Amino acid sequence: MKNTKIIIGLTLSILLFSCATNPFTGKQTLALVPNSQILPMAFQQYDQFLNENKVVTGTTEATMVKNVGQKISKAAERWLNANGYQGYLDDYRWEYNLVQDKSVNAWCMPGGKIVFYTGIMPIAKNEAGVAAIMGHEVAHALANHGQQRMSAAQLQQVAGAATAVATSNKSEETQQIIGTAFGLGSQLGVMLPFSRSHETEADRIGIQLMAIAGYNPDEAAELWKRMKANSGGQAPPEFMSTHPSNDTRIANLQAWAPAAKAEAKKFGVTSFK
Ligand SMILES: [Zn+2]
Repeated sequence: MKNTKIIIGLTLSILLFSCATNPFTGKQTLALVPNSQILPMAFQQYDQFLNENKVVTGTTEATMVKNVGQKISKAAERWLNANGYQGYLDDYRWEYNLVQDKSVNAWCMPGGKIVFYTGIMPIAKNEAGVAAIMGHEVAHALANHGQQRMSAAQLQQVAGAATAVATSNKSEETQQIIGTAFGLGSQLGVMLPFSRSHETEADRIGIQLMAIAGYNPDEAAELWKRMKANSGGQAPPEFMSTHPSNDTRIANLQAWAPAAKAEAKKFGVTSFK
């Protein structure tokens, strides 16, 4: 009982000074652990993941993932700069890797650390399809959805570890929590899907990024039609969530494509591939 009160008190004290504005939506969001603390741990986790998995290099697909990633991150930077968020990406260290794994999945850890699995490439099908997935994943990172995905208790632990042992050893468990919160498979068994609102938000931000990067936003809905056909009604892991349904998602993306094209036009982008 006493411990519960202490935890609630600590949580509230963190809540008080850690609201952040999502630049893409203007909404206030909780950033319980600042990027300056999360990012170094995320980068370490990402490197560890790459060490333990087979990174594909030099293939057409691997090159495509890198090229599209660079274009999408450039689009994000242009959008942020144009909207008064200069410096928002200063702590980011973009990286785009294709990993040999038959899972139909992709994810982005905080600070722009992206992985595509080879299993998603046939469904991505073409460069615009890769861009639609990339835009979605980058959007999760920009909107700090991962932080919001952690439970208050997990955030306590991460914040504690980050502040207390910022430069020394980070506990195995803390590393796992971070990995779990940002899309890696979970050994903890507490994998939370992104919420319906986070998925929808990532779709909406992502389609704008792909358009600004010069990719046809109409292709986002086409990607999701292929995803639906492939999955037999089940979404793949990162996108796993009872909502939004594939049909809702496709309808949303079709509805948002014209606005994404209009947004791209502000950046001088009027033709799409
Ligand atoms: Zn997602």
